[in-house]
Amino acid sequence: MTTSTHTEASSGDPATNKAAARATKLLKVYGEGEARVTALDHVSVAFDRGRFTAIMGPSGSGKSTLMHCLAGLDSISGGSVTLGDTELAGLKDKLLTKLRRDRIGFIFQAFNLLPTLNALENITLPMDIAGRKPDKQWLQRVIDTVGLGDRLAHRPAQLSGGQQQRVAVARALASRPEIVFADEPTGNLDSRSGAEVLRFLRESVRELGQTIVMVTHDASAAAYADRVVFLADGRIVDDMADPTADRVLERMKRFGTAERTT
Ligand code: ADP
Repeated sequence: MTTSTHTEASSGDPATNKAAARATKLLKVYGEGEARVTALDHVSVAFDRGRFTAIMGPSGSGKSTLMHCLAGLDSISGGSVTLGDTELAGLKDKLLTKLRRDRIGFIFQAFNLLPTLNALENITLPMDIAGRKPDKQWLQRVIDTVGLGDRLAHRPAQLSGGQQQRVAVARALASRPEIVFADEPTGNLDSRSGAEVLRFLRESVRELGQTIVMVTHDASAAAYADRVVFLADGRIVDDMADPTADRVLERMKRFGTAERTT
């Protein structure tokens, strides 16, 4: 097993801080008393800029919780979460909403496109709502990379699942966010469309320098990433560079859970 240990979490100096997002001794507890669940148990992990990282682990290991805490969608019980040099804990709701809108892109399992808008209108909708003008050159690069040039006037119902998710990916990238969080982005797609979307995610990291953190159950999806972080019982238990589907599967088997059924 060729795994590598990452030590980025030790660097707190902004000048040497390459991390787009970082959790330090992140604790997340749900419930109280007998219902108390430690979803994240002092997790320290950094996500470098310009890299594609997958988060894997058995069901209930804390993947979604980690992503939600990193994206400022959930409060934390201890430790810290930073986006670039911004500490999230203690930010007022309004600032947190602004930070999510301006600095983070989201891709979900459900494409969440508006049916009455065409592809281009869906892509620019968040920026229209925020009153921001898209950077035309960037938008064109995103559209070229995503390969939707001839579909921009189509409504979601006129697009395949894979094309719809590519619109959702382009929407997440349109404002050039510092980091994109993708939650099971291929969960609703057949394997061919899934591969299409994953190739695009990888392109957007390689060609456009984006930073992507993706939660997935699927070893072949994780193999598109530059790195896989494995969670079990709320802790990081492994960190693999340059994954292949075989090595990821092999590692997952050691959890002894039927991942494929979750
Ligand atoms: P994963 O995404 O890896 O399946 P989750 O992050 O969803 O795992 O969950 C981690 C743990 O936290 C699980 O034990 C889960 O039951 C618990 N959990 C998640 N969300 C809540 C919640 N809102 N209330 C109580 N427990 C929760």
